[in-house]
Amino acid sequence: MDKKVFWEKVLLALLPVAGKAHLLSFFNNTIIVSMTDSVLVIGVSLPVSKNFIQERYHRHILEIARNLDPTIHEIRFEVLSGLVDEKHPDSVNVQNLIGSQTPTIRKVPNRQEVIIDGEMRSNIMKYSLDNFIPGTENRLIHAACLAVVAKPGNIYNPLYIYGGVGLGKTHLLQATGNQIQKNHPNKRVVYMTAEKFINEIIDAIGKRHTKPFKENYRNLDCLLVDDIQFFANKATSEQEFFHTFNELYDAGKQIIMSADRPPRELDGLDDRLRSRFAMGMVIEVCVPEFETRFAILRQKCQEHGEIIEREVLEFIAANFTGSVRDMIGILINAIALSKLDNTTPTIRSVAEIMGKLNKTSQFVGLKVDLQKHSVRTLEDVIKVVSDYYKIDRNILIGEERRREIIIPRQICMYLIREILDQSYETIGENFGGRNHTTVLHSCNKIINQLKDDNRLIRDINALKREMGIS
Ligand code: ADP
Ligand code: MG
Repeated sequence: MDKKVFWEKVLLALLPVAGKAHLLSFFNNTIIVSMTDSVLVIGVSLPVSKNFIQERYHRHILEIARNLDPTIHEIRFEVLSGLVDEKHPDSVNVQNLIGSQTPTIRKVPNRQEVIIDGEMRSNIMKYSLDNFIPGTENRLIHAACLAVVAKPGNIYNPLYIYGGVGLGKTHLLQATGNQIQKNHPNKRVVYMTAEKFINEIIDAIGKRHTKPFKENYRNLDCLLVDDIQFFANKATSEQEFFHTFNELYDAGKQIIMSADRPPRELDGLDDRLRSRFAMGMVIEVCVPEFETRFAILRQKCQEHGEIIEREVLEFIAANFTGSVRDMIGILINAIALSKLDNTTPTIRSVAEIMGKLNKTSQFVGLKVDLQKHSVRTLEDVIKVVSDYYKIDRNILIGEERRREIIIPRQICMYLIREILDQSYETIGENFGGRNHTTVLHSCNKIINQLKDDNRLIRDINALKREMGIS
């Protein structure tokens, strides 16, 4: 569903809850910035509206959005100051919406921004060459994109990027387009998928009106076409693209393309076109190595404001099987799930998600037993807590008074009490002969802290999960 239509549906459903006045004052000109990775990002024009919406309507919006699209797990709000004076094509005019209850017509994007076909639009805000991690494998391609940004149409023209699914081709194309536009605001930069190009041609032909289409594309300074393998066996579109390509190329305009294979393997495509594609720079995006994969995951965590244990990220990176997109998907899934359960992702929870997706249970570096733990004894609980915090068992139950030991020790006592219903005396005996009042005090301390310490709640939930309890 189109983002704007989706947002209008949400707002209409919110109307009975929030009322007309609130909708008009706080939601006018709001937009959906992006809907990716199960996160819905909403753009609001003023900080005050953002705070208000967040406090009052966050939960309602999440509920409504999830009813419309169950893959959404999280909603975030962003202040986009440009929304007030510059009409964004996706921004919703609440007055019109409530008045007519029919969607408003999309405006043509202004020339200051890269023109992007609908679905991809959100990504332009997200993808940059800075957040593409080149690693050693893709250093060349990254450098080529930077060179094109510096001098579009000059070197590496056309630039042809090819490689497997989910390895960053779209990211690179959009990021490059975005940066060219930023550095050269007067240039006309257009990003589109080959599919979209084909559909537009078919449309134009149907309306017997191909002239504006042709002019539109031959007037550009930079054309980025994604997934050109789709031109195969589409003679008319291919022909049209060929002309567009030649005109732009002859005029020294920059062309960047991506495909799933090198030019010579583009079956079903005219030889002339194939050799044209190969005239400039042809580079393959490669599957990133472990270190790069790890760095990508760490960056994703930062983007989502999540702190996840290094070993969990290493585990995902080590068990990744091809597409970076899938790998990121697992991380996002784990984050979303842990948010729902109010825990923090662990190797175990990640392995469970991967197991469900790949139907395999053979993992590299899996130290935990995927079979549910059954904690029966006090020692079982001590073992799980000591593994979780990486504190030696004897230190955990010993005398040391460091804060980073005391808290796990108190948590451990609390869990034994709660899960196994052991007496304070027994727990005390197993913790180096401590007095039962000390144990009581420790348990109460945790109970009290659980009222408002979110970090502790997450830890305890994760520990219970480790024990196969929650
Ligand atoms: P493709 O178009 O090749 O199928 P995408 O460009 O859609 O792949 O990439 C899939 C996802 O992986 C995107 O979220 C992209 O940001 C991410 N990604 C892939 N490679 C990298 C990388 N080297 N650094 C950062 N993110 C990456
Ligand atoms: Mg792509």
